[in-house]
Amino acid sequence: MVKLETSLIHEGKQFNDSKAVVTPIFQTSTYLADTDLAAYISAATATKHPTFYHRHGNPTNSQVAEIIAGLEKTEDALLLATGMAAISTAILAIVQAGDHIVAQHAHYSGTTLFFKEFLVEYGIELTQVDQKDNEAFERALQPNTKLIYVETPSNPNLDLTDLAFIGQLGKRLGITTMADNTFASPINQTPHDFGIDVIVHSATKYLGGHSDLTAGVVCGTAAYIEKVWRRSLVLGASLSPFDSWLLLRGIKTLALRVRQINENALQLARWLDTKEVLRNVAYIGLPTHKQYQLAKQQLRGFTGMICLELAGDNEDQAYRRAQAVLSKLQIFINAASLGGVESLIVHPASMWGTHHDADQKKNSGITKGMLRISVGIEHIDDLIADFEQALSGIASVE
Ligand SMILES: *Cc1c(COP(=O)(O)O)cnc(C)c1O
Repeated sequence: MVKLETSLIHEGKQFNDSKAVVTPIFQTSTYLADTDLAAYISAATATKHPTFYHRHGNPTNSQVAEIIAGLEKTEDALLLATGMAAISTAILAIVQAGDHIVAQHAHYSGTTLFFKEFLVEYGIELTQVDQKDNEAFERALQPNTKLIYVETPSNPNLDLTDLAFIGQLGKRLGITTMADNTFASPINQTPHDFGIDVIVHSATKYLGGHSDLTAGVVCGTAAYIEKVWRRSLVLGASLSPFDSWLLLRGIKTLALRVRQINENALQLARWLDTKEVLRNVAYIGLPTHKQYQLAKQQLRGFTGMICLELAGDNEDQAYRRAQAVLSKLQIFINAASLGGVESLIVHPASMWGTHHDADQKKNSGITKGMLRISVGIEHIDDLIADFEQALSGIASVE
């Protein structure tokens, strides 16, 4: 096995059978098949055949999947059109009516919607727990529990789940465990090291890294990925040839980008943490983070995600201050998503205001004075200067 940085550039090259150094875009829905009908049948029924019909597979998808399976240390991986396609298809390959899932209060909003509005309607039971409380996962288990689903660090307020505890719990009881590793990226965290069975990502974020594509990936054993692939054949959320080509291009610099992002975010978080106008700076790399010890145990780097909370005499004042900061920032772009080379910022309470009811907002810890940052690879001096000018005078916002 070559080292990680080398694998990002050279793994899966066998799927490019042309002489082009850069894998071409296989912009085709179908492929010339063998006229021998026995050979045709074997191609038509082969799992993930890369050159039969697009929903079955695509050479670039296979190449990227091999790279990502290597990063996540799993046997195999499958690429899909979005993170939500990966998450929903991966879960539908595990549960059926009558089964029970244990999940967290805090998840990506689309995941919560999938659990609460989709799976529950299809007869699957759900219990949501506080991810910081190991025993809560154990207490929630039922005889029909088939899946423990975690997301760590979670969106948006950066709480952690104890992966070693969940991995052992699943192994001991024979329950499948699945982790959304989007926020960490495989550079910073590999849940498989802690016994987690299935790893999912929105590859739209750090893996792609340039905010120019959507994609998702499921990583697990070869036998499980075959099941996911069978589901994906009929659910049909295949990743387009151009998006998988962009993903292959983006992933080559994953290690470089993530390391720079980790470094920028740590410096920015330390600087922000000294500002009195901020009531809280949640960054898992700060010793003041309530789960800093766990962060050091299960992550190699602390990501580019920071969650700020403006101080205020009440929620409404904090909200007006968050609004003012957002309006004054010049370099940080007010946009959904994360994990790209450019720094982004969002107001979580506005972003998920329509998805979450009051109870969910409380359980997920989202407040009106909160801002979530995804730090990019710009020069750190410029990022700090942008916040310096945006925070100046904020204390006078009534
Ligand atoms: C964005 C995101 C998703 C959904 O991914 P899409 O590519 O937008 O479908 C899932 N989980 C997390 C943690 C995310 O940030």
